[in-house]
Amino acid sequence: MRLQFSSVHKSYKGANGEVRAVKDVSFALGEGDFVAIQGPSGCGKSTLLLLAGGLLRPESGRITIADTDLYSLSAERRADFRAANIGFVFQQFHLVPYLSVMDNIAAAANPQHNGSIDFKDRARELIDRFGLGARSKHRPAELSTGERQRTALARALLNEPTILLADEPTGNLDEENAAIVLDHLTELSNAGSAVLL
Ligand code: ADP
Repeated sequence: MRLQFSSVHKSYKGANGEVRAVKDVSFALGEGDFVAIQGPSGCGKSTLLLLAGGLLRPESGRITIADTDLYSLSAERRADFRAANIGFVFQQFHLVPYLSVMDNIAAAANPQHNGSIDFKDRARELIDRFGLGARSKHRPAELSTGERQRTALARALLNEPTILLADEPTGNLDEENAAIVLDHLTELSNAGSAVLL
């Protein structure tokens, strides 16, 4: 299994009480699965992705990626594991403001990768693929929202992740760019990665 949730719960506790964002969720994604979770705003979709990405510890239940129990790893080992296995596209993109498009993408290069990827070449290929060629030296503040979204996606794809998690990755794109992004995600899943939107 690429990703497995077993009886996962996550609540947020604050001054105004408790919000049960994810309640007893179990599912599994295998090689090549391409799944989109839908539901109204506030139903827990982003929370679920953060849990799956190793970024938010569940209160109970188990989350495994490629048979590794994510939250049994130390924070440091989980970060390494994430770099090696998971691509994540945040809803707010979280690009580094003082780096160019090219450097934002290349900065994701996983230093522990076994060396079969030439990261600069791959970054250039993704930039061309996503129509960012004319913007590669620009910083995020100089980009449209759609261009930022495509940069964030290219960064998430750089390491050829075994699982890609993306929070509404076509939400800010016109029809043509949405189709390019979906084509790329389909290709990724055809090559065996699991994709969860
Ligand atoms: P969705 O992505 O489906 O819109 P979220 O996962 O963002 O939903 O949120 C699910 C619920 O959890 C919402 O009611 C939201 O207000 C609450 N929530 C999300 N993040 C936090 C947080 N950091 N602290 C407290 N409550 C949160």
